[in-house]
Amino acid sequence: MLTMADQARMLDVDGVALELRLVRKRVKNINARLRGKTLLVSAPHRVSAEELDEMILQLARRLVRRSRAEVVNSDGGAERIARKVAARFSDPPEVAEVRFVTNQTARWGSYSSQTGVVRLNAALRHMPPWVLEAVVAHELAHTFYLNHSPAFWELVRSVCPKTDRARAFLEGVSWLASSWDELPPVERSQLVGGNNS
Ligand SMILES: [Zn+2]
Repeated sequence: MLTMADQARMLDVDGVALELRLVRKRVKNINARLRGKTLLVSAPHRVSAEELDEMILQLARRLVRRSRAEVVNSDGGAERIARKVAARFSDPPEVAEVRFVTNQTARWGSYSSQTGVVRLNAALRHMPPWVLEAVVAHELAHTFYLNHSPAFWELVRSVCPKTDRARAFLEGVSWLASSWDELPPVERSQLVGGNNS
């Protein structure tokens, strides 16, 4: 669905709110780019406003879909990451398969050295690949240490240098997930609308 307020020029594209920045210039075709939540469009003068709205919607939909496909860790992508991490161990654990599971609410991942199956919390599909990598490194390292001893952490950090950063990231995710409902609406909107500047 597309709604277009005349002044704010906000678009609603398949549930994603985008700010439209439209420039009319001497170009042959309509060009659209997505920068975060801003849709940058340049269009030739000859295209009517009506025609343009329809074309912008189509282009925006395509860009939103493409960006969604890019951020998500696919099954194949996760498997590549897991094998890459496994190869960094001096005695590489075997990775037969990576499965994203939804019945795992508390844990981020698990690994069975008997079956070679890595199970990952499905939420990791939507997180940066280096976070997924750290979870895999942690689970594979348990093949050698069943505890969280200093030797365990040393091993994890040696195969995944971003381990501590990823732990902090996941702590933040857990915190937000558990406190979301209690946050006052104003603070909540601050988090949703916040950019990285
Ligand atoms: Zn552990």
